[in-house]
Amino acid sequence: MRLVRFQKNGGVFYGVLEGEDVRTIEGDVFDEFIPDGKIFRRDDVKLLAPVSPRDIIAIGLNYKKHAEESGLNFPDKPLIFLKATSSVIGPEENIILPEAAPGEVDYEAELTVVIGKRAKNVEIDEVDNYILGYTCGNDVSARDCQFRIDQQWARGKSFDTFCPLGPWIETELANPEQCRISSRLNGKIMQDSNTSDLIFGVRELVSYCSKNFTLLPGTIIMTGTPEGVGFPRKPPVFLKQGDIIEVEIDGIGVLKNRVV
Ligand code: MG
Repeated sequence: MRLVRFQKNGGVFYGVLEGEDVRTIEGDVFDEFIPDGKIFRRDDVKLLAPVSPRDIIAIGLNYKKHAEESGLNFPDKPLIFLKATSSVIGPEENIILPEAAPGEVDYEAELTVVIGKRAKNVEIDEVDNYILGYTCGNDVSARDCQFRIDQQWARGKSFDTFCPLGPWIETELANPEQCRISSRLNGKIMQDSNTSDLIFGVRELVSYCSKNFTLLPGTIIMTGTPEGVGFPRKPPVFLKQGDIIEVEIDGIGVLKNRVV
């Protein structure tokens, strides 16, 4: 099932994609619900980020080849950081190069877990009961802030519009630990990997995070990005005005945003 969050006639609704239509749900996506409401044409609604996250937990250096391209050792434990929830945008919305740091803005395609139920101290073999589904994320990052100016990650990862999510939540992703994940910049493939290259797998991450803090319904976990980001390239590639950046995950879909 593909869950969308959308705007129509000034209201915000959850719905289920049914071909070219969207059917609203009755109930609460984070509790019980049935897709039993009004039907709209998909083209007649504005898709929003599929979740307005309670917390955005992100994992750094979690693909082997990305740790290698970054010149860093594999972490012994998942490297957790947070992004501001105000950085979220939806599919087709613009990524804005921030005035404070416009020059080294980079893309990071990430498989993103959406937590469906309050989770605390959950074991690996139980985590599926707490996951609502999966979406595509782009952990947009201002590398100058991240690496040189601030030397920690909060600001460089949290500028407004730096967390595109979407286009929907796939609730039945066959195997989240065996998914092709890629990104394209103006149509050219930049990242092309598979979640099988993750250092800490999806279920292990959810369990680990839940043992460190309570995961509330609507919290998302961005599981890290594979190799092929812009900064280690020679010469480096950074996002610029007019660029189109797409994140694609097999079994989910394509998240597309323009840079302004
Ligand atoms: Mg990242």
